[in-house]
Amino acid sequence: MNPIPYGKQHITEEDINAVIEVLKSDYLTQGPTILAFEHAFAQYIGAKYAVAVSNGTAALHLAALALDVKDGDKVITTPITFAASANCIRYCGGEVVFADIDEETYLLDIEKVKKLLEASPKGTYKGIVPVDFAGKAVDQEAFRELADEYGLWIIEDACHAPGGFFIDRNGDKQLCGNGKLADLSIFSFHPVKHIATGEGGMITTDNEELYKKLIKLRTHGITRETSLFENTPEFACGTESEVYPGWYMEMQALGYNYRITDFQAALGLSQLKKADKGLQRRVEIARKYDNAFKDVAGITSQLNELTNEHSGHAYHLYVIQVENRLGLYNYLKDQQIFAQVHYIPTHLMPYYREQGWKEGDFPIAEAYYKRCLSLPMYPSMTDEQQNYVIEKIINFVNS
Ligand SMILES: *Cc1c(COP(=O)(O)O)cnc(C)c1O
Repeated sequence: MNPIPYGKQHITEEDINAVIEVLKSDYLTQGPTILAFEHAFAQYIGAKYAVAVSNGTAALHLAALALDVKDGDKVITTPITFAASANCIRYCGGEVVFADIDEETYLLDIEKVKKLLEASPKGTYKGIVPVDFAGKAVDQEAFRELADEYGLWIIEDACHAPGGFFIDRNGDKQLCGNGKLADLSIFSFHPVKHIATGEGGMITTDNEELYKKLIKLRTHGITRETSLFENTPEFACGTESEVYPGWYMEMQALGYNYRITDFQAALGLSQLKKADKGLQRRVEIARKYDNAFKDVAGITSQLNELTNEHSGHAYHLYVIQVENRLGLYNYLKDQQIFAQVHYIPTHLMPYYREQGWKEGDFPIAEAYYKRCLSLPMYPSMTDEQQNYVIEKIINFVNS
């Protein structure tokens, strides 16, 4: 049996040819393939606008900048996420305030967030960064209501959840990142995620003003749009003139170079065509794990209320909790099965401990961390491989 990782990209001949085609074209970056990828992704997610960037962390940083996060701004997020969900606030000088997770879904617990908000005068907090952890969609309808009550913005970290959704109170499907509820949503195209571009990320929104800000911030804060220029044509030309010269551009904000390349966008565009198929396969794998473990005492899976043919869960990860996590992890490793842990609670990373967070702050997240393990989950995993994984896990837990 070949080594079985917890996650892995699936690159086809078609993907490779799409990249080669762009490599032979005039544009390696800032070309038409980026726009094509953005349009296709926005359509897939059901959002009006999409801005492709160099990675998911850059997407988070730009989102925080576009929402004007400043020194001392307090923003709430979950401790059970990749550190970047919190770090983006620190990049802008803001202060991260963690709130505990729900015991069964492992998502940021809205009741805990409510308590935080109620305990301080309105205006204390600026925003919330909920995470569609493992691919399970956060109830953005509930978070939107709460955010509106307190005048907060929402950045949805949807890195785990392209194609994921929840059902709102009208019975409508709300796809993660569709721009209807969160102000901005962000995605990553790291190879372990659903769509791989090597490095890459995307921000989606329905807000035109934020979209325009993001476009500018992605490329140094520079604009080439005549209608937006602040200096006069006369200044721009260096002589009397009514029109701006061809070379002219303006840097209007402190932006970055967070661009993605056209050949990465070509890979993304090609990968996107298979996204639905990949998601279907992920759901299939999850159902098989569900069935294999449902009667095994000692294994708890992440709660997902919707268990019809399409579960709403995008299954970036399949997470279980077991008593002897270290034992199981090592046992699986000896069998060439490389499970992983998601995540070491962010508030207990040395960097965040320095900001005053400590053990005992979030008992549910901390208890979860002691028992959690992410099992192999990727579309190209074969039935044979999954059977082997299941057999080994059950062997271990029953011994
Ligand atoms: C992967 C990931 C990121 C960061 O994405 P990169 O593309 O690796 O920078 C942020 N948040 C979550 C939840 C992620 O899983």
